[in-house]
Amino acid sequence: MTLFTDEKLFEDEKLDFENMSITDLLKWAEITYGGDLVLAASFQDTVMIDIVTKVIPNIKTVFIDTGMHFDETLEFVEKVKEFYSLNLIVLEPAEDACNFPCGVNGCCKKRKVEPFNKYLKDSKTKAWISGIKRVDTKERADAPVVGWDDSKGLIKINPIVTWTESDVENYSKQNQLLKHPLVSKGYLSIGCAPTTSPVKPGEPIRSGRWVNLDKTECGLHI
Ligand code: SF4
Repeated sequence: MTLFTDEKLFEDEKLDFENMSITDLLKWAEITYGGDLVLAASFQDTVMIDIVTKVIPNIKTVFIDTGMHFDETLEFVEKVKEFYSLNLIVLEPAEDACNFPCGVNGCCKKRKVEPFNKYLKDSKTKAWISGIKRVDTKERADAPVVGWDDSKGLIKINPIVTWTESDVENYSKQNQLLKHPLVSKGYLSIGCAPTTSPVKPGEPIRSGRWVNLDKTECGLHI
């Protein structure tokens, strides 16, 4: 991801996204992109949903239903939707998604990446908000707070990109957020059921994703 498409805009306004408060960042995003802004939520927790809806209550929130989620995740989506009165958009896998062996790139491509990219294009979205953090994976280590997402052709905003796992945990506790029911069973990073495992104590949070596969990203963020 490169900084930025519209470099002049950012230079003129001298916006220091790296040091801006999350509230100011989201206010800027709403003023700049209005209804052309979406939040992508994995629903493994509600941190991003809680943070963003406090500033932009009616933001379009996208959940990508891969058809492979845990039942608990689908139930949690409904619970969270009701709790926050979410303006929720649920995307489905591409029509030609086959039952590839889970974990191969073609599976994520047809069940996550293509539906999301199609939605962004069809809805003429100009900016999307994600909950990635630099500590998540090596591919995310240099992610900016605001940058141009080459793969999608729009602006990507990462409000908690500088956060650690402790920051997420502290925010969840302080704000008494709803918890995904599988967290108490050791699932600390929750994706599709066939490719998500519980994490052993002391292991990295994302170590339960695509276990034994040479894969750390689904393709949405790279
Ligand atoms: S996370 Fe696994 S099951 Fe889900 S779309 Fe990707 S490869 Fe398929």
